[in-house]
Amino acid sequence: MPLIHAQSISAGYGDSRAISDVILTLQNGELLALVGANGAGKSTLLRVIAGAHRPTAGTVSFKDSDISRLTDFQRNKLGISLVPEGRRLFASMTVIENLIVGAGSGRAGAWNVESVVETLPMLKPLLKRNASRLSGGQQQAVSIGRALMSNPEVLLLDEVSLGLAPIIIDELYESLSVVRQSGLGIILVEQDLARTIAVADRIMCLLEGHVVLEGKSGDLTHDQITDAYFGHS
Ligand code: ATP
Repeated sequence: MPLIHAQSISAGYGDSRAISDVILTLQNGELLALVGANGAGKSTLLRVIAGAHRPTAGTVSFKDSDISRLTDFQRNKLGISLVPEGRRLFASMTVIENLIVGAGSGRAGAWNVESVVETLPMLKPLLKRNASRLSGGQQQAVSIGRALMSNPEVLLLDEVSLGLAPIIIDELYESLSVVRQSGLGIILVEQDLARTIAVADRIMCLLEGHVVLEGKSGDLTHDQITDAYFGHS
């Protein structure tokens, strides 16, 4: 039984189609990476799974239950947590307050402020700092920590490394490798193909809203992925 099964998803904004007839499955403990150019539909697909964007067609199941009609809040309570593009922290709250807000609607479990700080050590000296006074990398760490506080079984990560320095990206990925050991399923949107190939179990490439390539990362070559990414056949 897959953790997530999204079937025949189409979604858009007004009259424009962002994704068409996409099928996606995520197994327990798996890291699935979504790749594709800007505008390919990756964020839209993540948001449909999280319940933050309503599709025009298709269904989303979580462990065999149809959750298509549930709100993002209800899905978060069930165990699906989105780290959105742009982090979206509460700027007037401190780091610790942002983390605690994340626990609010979620489930009980192993993640709490202490274990989050242990896994994302850059947060340790910052707990009382206002979120508006953090660097981009620190904000991203808070955003990941906040998502973990709801004890998700599925973590949806949108553009974790966007605009961050390589040393910070390395540190965040180090933390994510620790997070993975807890056995949750992850869907990751990442622009850096080399990094994606290195961390993902499976890769799905979107081109103009369609899935054009999918496979285990060890079975796909870098050239196959870049050809699919740019739409070269
Ligand atoms: P990016 O890397 O730029 O975030 P993406 O692969 O995540 O790209 P989406 O953000 O899902 O792609 O965008 C898919 C399509 O939907 C694009 O054509 C985009 O312009 C459009 N789109 C996305 N968000 C909106 C919105 N809020 N209103 C209108 N159109 C949108």
